[in-house]
Amino acid sequence: MSEAGDSERIGVAVVTGGTRGIGLAVAKRLTADGYDVLLTYKGDADAADAAKTELAGSGRQIEVIAADISTADGAGQAIEAAMQSLGRLDVLVNNAGITRDTLLMRMSDDDWDVVLTTNLKGAFLTSKAAIRPMLRQRSGRIVNISSVVGQVGNAGQANYAAAKAGLIGFTKSLAKEVGSRGITVNAIAPGFIDTRMTAGLSDEMKAMLLERTPLNRFGTPKDVAGAVAFLVGPDASFITGHTLTVDGGLFMP
Ligand code: NAP
Repeated sequence: MSEAGDSERIGVAVVTGGTRGIGLAVAKRLTADGYDVLLTYKGDADAADAAKTELAGSGRQIEVIAADISTADGAGQAIEAAMQSLGRLDVLVNNAGITRDTLLMRMSDDDWDVVLTTNLKGAFLTSKAAIRPMLRQRSGRIVNISSVVGQVGNAGQANYAAAKAGLIGFTKSLAKEVGSRGITVNAIAPGFIDTRMTAGLSDEMKAMLLERTPLNRFGTPKDVAGAVAFLVGPDASFITGHTLTVDGGLFMP
């Protein structure tokens, strides 16, 4: 295995929702560490073009495809495209996610379904497609981007909390299924990370979160990317079924 910065490829990674926010930071970090990367997105083609341009200087092969991972076809296409264009699959980061926040009384069936289908079923569908080549190789790393909201709950986010808690149970179950085949499955639970997803929070909410964060700052996408790099790297080879919290100390059990 080569060191970061070496021009030799160390593996192939798929990052769902990799064209902005946390996913883009993960893609940047993995390319810097020597991975060729395929990114998926749903509909924001401008962000996808910008991500491709930003990663072009990495010296690694970058593929960007529009693939809705909440459908079996989209998830299958993402993995198939990685296998065809990059030849193998070492790392899957299930990062694509959305929110539709509102109190339960006002939450529509659609608010519930679209959040569960994107955040939870999407990880199931993409992992299912990815697990075949990983089983053949007898190696692989899957990292699911959950949330502290899945661990502690949050008023106005019953759908999102259910999906993110489900992702932690999914992580543990899959870790037990595929551990003997050299595949690890872990989750990351970010706290407040400064991205488009959190841009709409009120100033009062941001001030409250900051006040409760011992490290006294908001997280950055790069903070989460560092945790992903650790979990897919050699130092984490004996870690599976774990949920790593990256939240500046906001929520401590
Ligand atoms: P973001 O800036 O809103 O980016 C979301 C990404 O997911 C975009 O690339 C988006 O593509 C893609 N996406 C959404 N639905 C998709 C679908 N059905 N198929 C394929 N791609 C899809 O979000 P973020 O803040 O970086 O969050 C990334 C992950 O971290 C999410 O799972 C989120 O729940 C989790 N997280 C975030 C925070 C936070 O504070 N930001 C905290 C905890 C957990 P388009 O651009 O095409 O829409």
